[in-house]
Amino acid sequence: MTTLSREALVALDKRFVWHPYTPMRRYVDEVDPFVVVRASGPYLFDADGRRYVDGNSSWWVAALGHGHPRLVAALKAQADVLAHTSLAGVTHEPAARLGERLVAAAPEGLTRVFYSDDGSTALEAAIKMALGFHANQGRAERRRFVSLGGAFHGETLGVTALGGVELFRRSYADVLMRVDFVEPPGRADAEDCAAASALVEALRGGDAAALVLEPLVQGAAGMRLYPPWYLALARRACDEAGALLIVDEVFTGYGRTGTFWAVEAAGVSPDLLCTAKAFSGGLLPMAATLVSDRVFDAFLGAPERAFFYGHSFCGNPLGARVALEVLDVYAEEAVMEGVPERARRIAAAFERIGRISGTKDARSLGMIGAVDLAQDAGYLGRTGWRVHEEARRRGAYVRPLGDVVYVAPPINTPLDALDELLGIVEDSVARAL
Ligand SMILES: *Cc1c(COP(=O)(O)O)cnc(C)c1O
Repeated sequence: MTTLSREALVALDKRFVWHPYTPMRRYVDEVDPFVVVRASGPYLFDADGRRYVDGNSSWWVAALGHGHPRLVAALKAQADVLAHTSLAGVTHEPAARLGERLVAAAPEGLTRVFYSDDGSTALEAAIKMALGFHANQGRAERRRFVSLGGAFHGETLGVTALGGVELFRRSYADVLMRVDFVEPPGRADAEDCAAASALVEALRGGDAAALVLEPLVQGAAGMRLYPPWYLALARRACDEAGALLIVDEVFTGYGRTGTFWAVEAAGVSPDLLCTAKAFSGGLLPMAATLVSDRVFDAFLGAPERAFFYGHSFCGNPLGARVALEVLDVYAEEAVMEGVPERARRIAAAFERIGRISGTKDARSLGMIGAVDLAQDAGYLGRTGWRVHEEARRRGAYVRPLGDVVYVAPPINTPLDALDELLGIVEDSVARAL
């Protein structure tokens, strides 16, 4: 509940708050923002008492919906006992138990867990680990990263360098570390020789530290999908080139693509895996970078070899306790068992949406459905925002990526809420076009 009137609250916001990914002039002059006062399960409720299905899990984090009673109870219980302590020469039960549980849930061969705050820091830690891994083994010439065109790995300057969305890197391009980009293949299941050889070629030269990729779907690029064979190829190409494979499961992990980890679809284990967002159930910032023994062991020995890195909230007990509860909920509420039926409904809806004239390339994968509303759909396109407005009138929150309209609802969205969301998106696309 808010103590301010809606109007007063919006006025304060527009006077003082700088919003993320938001052209602020247009926001202040034209936008009537959602004022969310509470959220429950798949729904957001606004200041006028209206209910909206949350079509993107609130920026991909609320994988178990909002206010899951078990997560909230875990958070409260932990807050009463221990909200924070550092993890430097100190430990506590949530961090230790979560480490064990994560390794058990992880793809084979990932045996150690490094905690941080969010997706960006999980990736930032990973790229520093990759550089340290090679340097500690006398291969200081391995400083170059390879990333995919259209990639998104977060906001810090290090991972901005790995980002392949031109609009997001433009202002910083001259101060970024060296990264070579390769284009991921299209969606064809058959191996695309040109894409495959470009990847192999980019990793050659003896100076590659690591390949970094979002497995199966490039989220921020506009829900661009590519097939599992490319992941298997990436694993082989990294091994041949002596480079590490860093997989960014910040968006894809915890069931988004239909399996718990996206890499499972290719039977691939990376050397490093980054998880955030769904990892802490959307309750609070928390992330982890999982690594193999081979990576971990490279930092053993003389103290200078240690990984000199760590954020203030590394291993935060609240986040760790909630992240443990998230894994328990997945297991005890059989969350993954509910995915095939939901994925089927999303696929069917986007097939229908793809038949609406003016749409292009309707697609789906697991708990993601997406459609382009323009040729060469870009982030600054306005058509997606018309769909957003139509959906808002009909009771769904659907934030587009420019001219790409997509859904990525909570993994456990009740079927009636999912059907409501998909119906609203279909009507809204038809109306907007
Ligand atoms: C969101 C995202 C990130 C960055 O995570 P933050 O928590 O926003 O820092 C990194 N990689 C991928 C694939 C993401 O979707």
